Amino acid sequence: MLRSAWSVRRLVSTTVAGKRALHAKTTPFPDKLAFAFDIDGVLKQGHHNVLPQAKRVLRFLSGAEGRLPKPIPFLLITNGGGIPDEERRAALSRELGVELTENQLVQSHTPIKEYVDKYKDKPVLVVGGKGENCRRVAESYGLKHPYIPQDIIAWKPDIWDRTELTEEEKSFVRPADFSQIPFSAALVFDDTRDWGRDITLILDLLSSDKGVFGTRREGHNRADLSGDVELVMSNADVEWRSSWPIPRLGTGAFRLCLEATYKSTTGLELPYKQFGKPFKATYEFSELMLRRYLKQVGRNSNKELNVYMVGDNPLSDIDGANRFGWNSILVRTGVFHDKHGEKPSHKPTVICDDVEKGVEWAIQEELRKGNL
Ligand SMILES: [Mg+2]
Repeated sequence: MLRSAWSVRRLVSTTVAGKRALHAKTTPFPDKLAFAFDIDGVLKQGHHNVLPQAKRVLRFLSGAEGRLPKPIPFLLITNGGGIPDEERRAALSRELGVELTENQLVQSHTPIKEYVDKYKDKPVLVVGGKGENCRRVAESYGLKHPYIPQDIIAWKPDIWDRTELTEEEKSFVRPADFSQIPFSAALVFDDTRDWGRDITLILDLLSSDKGVFGTRREGHNRADLSGDVELVMSNADVEWRSSWPIPRLGTGAFRLCLEATYKSTTGLELPYKQFGKPFKATYEFSELMLRRYLKQVGRNSNKELNVYMVGDNPLSDIDGANRFGWNSILVRTGVFHDKHGEKPSHKPTVICDDVEKGVEWAIQEELRKGNL
């Protein structure tokens, strides 16, 4: 149990016993240690089920219980998204029982915030999330002209006549004459809903003349001519684990459909910029966030960090961490199981039963190696 075995003093007594006095001032502390946790399948199972060991781990690391001389930095990296970062952070803080700071949560689209600064004064199409959540995400990232698929349907219902706007949707659409509006980018913010509608609108923009709906660019199907609209995707997970017993299709599956239809209609490979795990841009951004957190809690933010990624998905969490040079801990509480001797598609540093066992292993490992 964490309560007894996870005290640093207790760990010292079981790992480097006799080498140092068990006094608070001289207790070895794993000073380079930092954690990155996936959420679904690691801290939670389904939308509402928080694992009790996750609460214990995060309280311990944050130093809330006074059992650590200083907090051990950690953040949560999820391929989920579709709501503004601040709202997700507040909800997770309540659920997990720790107050997460602004530097401790990376949703699949959080790194896009800095990337899309170039579009802040330009019209963009944003897709994903319930209602107009993706518009609110875009606005929270400083984008001044974000439009959503429902705005386009309200302008010309014929552009996609398979679904009709609900009364609720009619209440939040922003009327505009889109024959006069040149879009610069299409941003997919996870949690896509109406795939037929959204694929159609994105394909329209990719083949458009200067990003205007209802136009088609001459040479739109030529590989040597690039288009006028950049496609930016977050979350490449083809499957994810909800409360349903069988994995469900995620935004990565949406992208596969988009790639296949683009190829089929133009003969070309889909051009896009990808964020989320396992892509480097997300890990670079996360390490920057860990350093910002260290600074925030009064610790040296420039020193070497030994980051341990704890995840349940070999394809995203483990592959990304390995590629970025982090340690990786694969847990058995999510999509990965090895009951019948299955081997993970990407080999982690270690496989542990759950997040608590993983964190305990990492602390012992750092102390054993003398990374103080
Ligand atoms: Mg997961």
